[in-house]
Amino acid sequence: MQTDDADLYDVVVIGGALSGAATATLLLRQNPGIRILIVEKSAKLTRRVGEATVEVSAYFMGRVLGLTKYLNESHLVKQGLRFWFKNDDVKTIAEASELGGRYQVRLPSYQLDRAAFDEEVLRRACIAGAELLRPASVTKVDLVPGGEQSLTLRHGEDTRTIRARWIVDASGVAATLARKNGWWRSNTEHPTAAAWSRWTGVKDWDGHDLAQKYPNWASSVHAVRGTATNHIIGDGWWSWWIPLKGGDMSVGVVFDQRLVDWPEEGGSIGERLKAFLMKHPVARELLADAEFQPDDVHWRRNLAYYSTTFAGDGFVLVGDAAAFMDPFYSPGMDWISYTTSRAAHLITAQRSGESMDTAVALHNHDLALSHRSWFEALYKDKYEYMGEWDLMTLAFRLDLGFYYLCIVSQPFRLGPTALLTLPFSQPISRPFFHLIRTYNRRFAQIARRRRDINALGKTNRGNRCLIPGYTMGAGDAWVIGKALARWAWLELSEGWHTWWNRSASSSHVAPEPTAAPCEPSVLSTIPS
Ligand SMILES: Cc1cc2nc3c(=O)[nH]c(=O)nc-3n(C[C@H](O)[C@H](O)[C@H](O)COP(=O)(O)OP(=O)(O)OC[C@H]3O[C@@H](n4cnc5c(N)ncnc54)[C@H](O)[C@@H]3O)c2cc1C
Repeated sequence: MQTDDADLYDVVVIGGALSGAATATLLLRQNPGIRILIVEKSAKLTRRVGEATVEVSAYFMGRVLGLTKYLNESHLVKQGLRFWFKNDDVKTIAEASELGGRYQVRLPSYQLDRAAFDEEVLRRACIAGAELLRPASVTKVDLVPGGEQSLTLRHGEDTRTIRARWIVDASGVAATLARKNGWWRSNTEHPTAAAWSRWTGVKDWDGHDLAQKYPNWASSVHAVRGTATNHIIGDGWWSWWIPLKGGDMSVGVVFDQRLVDWPEEGGSIGERLKAFLMKHPVARELLADAEFQPDDVHWRRNLAYYSTTFAGDGFVLVGDAAAFMDPFYSPGMDWISYTTSRAAHLITAQRSGESMDTAVALHNHDLALSHRSWFEALYKDKYEYMGEWDLMTLAFRLDLGFYYLCIVSQPFRLGPTALLTLPFSQPISRPFFHLIRTYNRRFAQIARRRRDINALGKTNRGNRCLIPGYTMGAGDAWVIGKALARWAWLELSEGWHTWWNRSASSSHVAPEPTAAPCEPSVLSTIPS
């Protein structure tokens, strides 16, 4: 084992993927001359999940990291989110109820091949001045509050000890510091699991084949469907369809283990994934000639977890090393945008002589509050109702509206410093947290009752809600107001059944849902 002064750094980053390389980049900009070492386990970054950006992460990559030109040249411009539903009467893609935009999106976002993208962010961090050691793995960390941290790492046959004033843990799901220090917790309220792969030969959403077969379906939307993140949804599960530059498609299923029995037998995980998807008529259409890539099939149980500590005087956790919530709506890289911005800010504050006691306490408070509130407001029990076209349409219009009004608008108005304020962490955002949590809980309760009385999926055939999109302007509040009014009508027409007795149903007659989730201007019904 060897150590010398060359092994003393200002910051050592564990993990050289997006979180690690982005934090290093921000630190190098804020602290010229700072000595940063990035330790990365792999010799070459491989494809990983987390391929769809949304508006905040796209802002971070484009405008903060300065990658807009690279993103436009080497990845795909994304066209929002699109959802496809089914019930037993849906036989073709043209009959499946649809939710999405009628037109192209208004703000930038991208579909990334993370193997190429993360390598590029890492390459730029090194050009900016970071040192990189790879393939090398951090095996031990000794934290010394306010002092010199020490890390043991394996690099080939060597074992080295490195010292640093700060450690940034960007080790992703390995969550090195959280696990080693007993801070890691599984989020047992949210038992999701996922299987995924990259596929070749997936049918073109916008191609001649489907347009010829279903001309009305093809012409009903003016946007490009294929570069959206398409979500093919069932009861308790959803799948993502993310196109990658060059033609491969990332397709994976996420499900709530309380609601879905994943086939434990029936071939390899890839074969079971395909068999599972083929039960959905939309997926069946698209996967007819498709093959998953057998060396690129993945499976993960119990996706949601968090660390009870996010920082101390000498260490800070970023990205997946800090927490992971749920991939629905692609919040993973938004979380990276906030946590890396806050981590760089914390370290820079210490180097400028600020007291760490208050700064670390505030960091831990804000991240814990934001993560918990974000989860409770948007994800807790969402899988109960996400397979219902009408409920999901209302939820999506509200979730997206509040995302634009309260979250996305902030960096566009205030600049990158807005990324230092985490969602739901400030008193002004708490009423929105309570409102979002309330309607999501209510939709879950309404869906639970429908499940009890065998009335799921009634609106999943023949409906299309094509929303015009939000603008971050005052008009958004009006659109949100209309959606809230539709929620009120849903409560009066159906929700009241669950106002007093929240789990059981009083009637066993399956009702026809009475509240349309869209205004007539954005709603159309598909002729039978
Ligand atoms: C099913 C699923 C779908 C998802 N879809 C999306 C999506 O569409 N959009 C989105 O924004 N997010 C999505 N996410 C989340 C997204 O994948 C993550 O938030 C993101 O990839 C995390 O990046 P990271 O840099 O923090 O960690 P990672 O990408 O996991 O990188 C961690 C790095 O650390 C290295 N490392 C680990 N341990 C060590 C060690 N001991 N020493 C040295 N190096 C080490 C690893 O080699 C790796 O390169 C999804 C997640 C899941 C589970």
